[in-house]
Amino acid sequence: MEQRTDIASLGEFALIDHLTQEAEIKNASTVLSIGDDAAVIDHFGKQTVVSTDLLIEGIHFDLMYTPLKHLGYKAVSVNVSDIYAMHANPTQITVSIAVSNRFSVEALEELYAGIHAACEQYHVDLVGGDTCSSPKGLVISITAIGEVATDKFVCRSGAQVNDLICVSGDLGAAYLGLQLLEREKKIFLENPAVQPDLEARDYIVKRLLKPEARKDIIEWLDEQAIQPTSMIDVSDGLSSELLHLCKDSQVGCVVYEEKIPIHSETKEVSFDLGIDSTTCALSGGEDYELLFTISQAEYDKMPMQEKISIIGYITEADKGCFLETKQGNRHPLIAQGWKSF
Ligand code: ADP
Ligand code: MG
Repeated sequence: MEQRTDIASLGEFALIDHLTQEAEIKNASTVLSIGDDAAVIDHFGKQTVVSTDLLIEGIHFDLMYTPLKHLGYKAVSVNVSDIYAMHANPTQITVSIAVSNRFSVEALEELYAGIHAACEQYHVDLVGGDTCSSPKGLVISITAIGEVATDKFVCRSGAQVNDLICVSGDLGAAYLGLQLLEREKKIFLENPAVQPDLEARDYIVKRLLKPEARKDIIEWLDEQAIQPTSMIDVSDGLSSELLHLCKDSQVGCVVYEEKIPIHSETKEVSFDLGIDSTTCALSGGEDYELLFTISQAEYDKMPMQEKISIIGYITEADKGCFLETKQGNRHPLIAQGWKSF
């Protein structure tokens, strides 16, 4: 049988030591890390960017189909994604957890294995956190800290009329991954003998369970010396994020349905489940791609490539926010309850 160590047998301080012993410092900006009353960070003349997120069992994740290691990785990914969306570079995170005695030390080790793997991937230092008990379930709160050269950060509010709207990667996959896993969970609860049928669905399941923050896109923008005029990460679906950008920038937009990047597996599964794939991209969420605008003058710096799609352009505010369908009809973009045409 698998080993199961009660958290109580270690105690809080030994548990913290145990979970964080792997945390090694990768950034010069980390002056003092875990072990004191607070961490000390020096960004050497750069500006500091801070973002925090809360993940609650039963609301943000379901441990029936979410491996703890993936959950740890995802919790870090979604936080550093917010830092990248500011055009900044994440450097440190703090991780706070509330756990019930339902969780063993081994389970928390799995969670931290994912957290440490993500710290490697994004080159961030785990510099602190907090640990306490919860009456029920698991709560994870992560704060990500990053740095950016003075006034190089990108807000949601900078989009200008005629700017091009760009999005990285592809959209809608995580939402379908969730639909598939929810379907399999229901089947399993009705009949535990039935094995999950997720064959050839690796891509969309992984997009849900182990999303990657688009560090590569930020590096690429820097290499090309492209400074986006506005940027946001896609956590709630393309529609909602476009409306945020347009509202904060006081502009409108036109987005072309045929330009929205959708993975072939997303198309297949949406067809199987009878859900419109454009709807998944517009309203699904949890894609953690970057949505940004660039001035038309930067267009020549955007070689034809797979990782970034130009999906539309910015208009005057009084023109509104629209999706132009493949048939050439225009529909106003709405954030929630968006229906297939
Ligand atoms: P305090 O009583 O001052 O809050 P703690 O005993 O909670 O201190 O924390 C001791 C050290 O361990 C601090 O550096 C804190 O940031 C770090 N820490 C506590 N819990 C975690 C955790 N779950 N993950 C990472 N670091 C943690
Ligand atoms: Mg504490």
